[in-house]
Amino acid sequence: MEISEKVAYLKGLAEGLKLDEETKEGKLIAGIIDVLDAMAEEFADVESEIVDLEDGLDAVSEDLSDVEETLYFALDDDDEDDDEDDDDDELFVTTCPCCEEEVVFDEDVLADGEVVCPNCGERLEFDLSDLANATNKDEE
Ligand SMILES: [Zn+2]
Repeated sequence: MEISEKVAYLKGLAEGLKLDEETKEGKLIAGIIDVLDAMAEEFADVESEIVDLEDGLDAVSEDLSDVEETLYFALDDDDEDDDEDDDDDELFVTTCPCCEEEVVFDEDVLADGEVVCPNCGERLEFDLSDLANATNKDEE
């Protein structure tokens, strides 16, 4: 039962008792019921304000979700690109002994054990220690 309904019930009860408001007790009880009535009204107002606030908050929350989706989608895109650069495509650089062109290749090519120079088509074969030397030379 709502508070306002309980207060209405008390009001009805007081009227049924034919409460004499001229007596001290009657004044007190009538005063208490008035205060309860006022409080019930205040509660009803506060409750409807909270409902309005919740509706407003839901709307803001939904808008925020849209913003987050858009933002995270954009960020995820960037992250994926970064991950690929960092982890999957580690690049090595060496110099072709035939045409002395700089040859760039990744781990996948290295696993095959040979690199074909894109400039002259020379097959460059080496083991990992040769590769390390070539890379170091290039950095110096
Ligand atoms: Zn070459």
